[in-house]
Amino acid sequence: MIELRNVSKKFANGHVALNNISLNIDNGEFVFLIGSSGAGKSTIIKLLMKEHETDSGKIIVQGKDITKLKRAQIPYLRRSIGVVFQDFRLLPDKTVYENVAFAMEVTEASAKEIRRQVPIVLGMVDLSKKSKQYPHQLSGGEQQRVSIARAMVNGPSILIADEPTGNLDPEMSWEIMKLFNEINLKGTTIIMATHDLNIVNKMKKRVVEVSDGVIVRDEKRGGYFSENQNL
Ligand code: ADP
Repeated sequence: MIELRNVSKKFANGHVALNNISLNIDNGEFVFLIGSSGAGKSTIIKLLMKEHETDSGKIIVQGKDITKLKRAQIPYLRRSIGVVFQDFRLLPDKTVYENVAFAMEVTEASAKEIRRQVPIVLGMVDLSKKSKQYPHQLSGGEQQRVSIARAMVNGPSILIADEPTGNLDPEMSWEIMKLFNEINLKGTTIIMATHDLNIVNKMKKRVVEVSDGVIVRDEKRGGYFSENQNL
């Protein structure tokens, strides 16, 4: 369902961030993207969201080569992919409910649909009781759960997370991983870039390692990675 075929990306300053990478991800897979800072993980994610253009190669998402998408079609691509960031990116002056509802409002969902769907996803992340709170009143783990609810509210088939546990302590990180597991079990494909080898080792999912813009390792079921490995 996601295929990168011979994809290269060079930035305007001449830096080659990705050098002829190929990667296939099936429907419903859970994939960790690992690699040291600057390896190219975020570049892969941004290419999938069409925040960057490829220089060469194809990127096929749900049967469509997104490198050929017209500008007007990009919002539809982005709607089919939920995204979670390290720094949550919640709107500070909106409540939990409003933050999640906003992601539906921009898709022009009806008020009725929004009233139906938002409580469902807030229940899924166990935040029904905090729907009227503002982000600053929540713990980091709770804020990240709001951002997961927001990413899932439009029913995406793919969830991409860029270092989602980077700002969280180990206990909160595990709550987030449990949630990702549940979301994945319901059929959503998950791609998660991370430095947290403890999580990667324990989850036993597919691990794709990027180094200097190339894929250097692809393990179907989370191989062992030394804690001291310099990631
Ligand atoms: P990672 O997510 O693995 O830390 P990135 O994908 O962010 O790595 O970056 C890959 C490489 O591309 C790095 O060397 C980074 O400095 C470079 N890079 C990323 N974005 C840009 C940009 N907009 N312009 C120039 N170089 C960039």
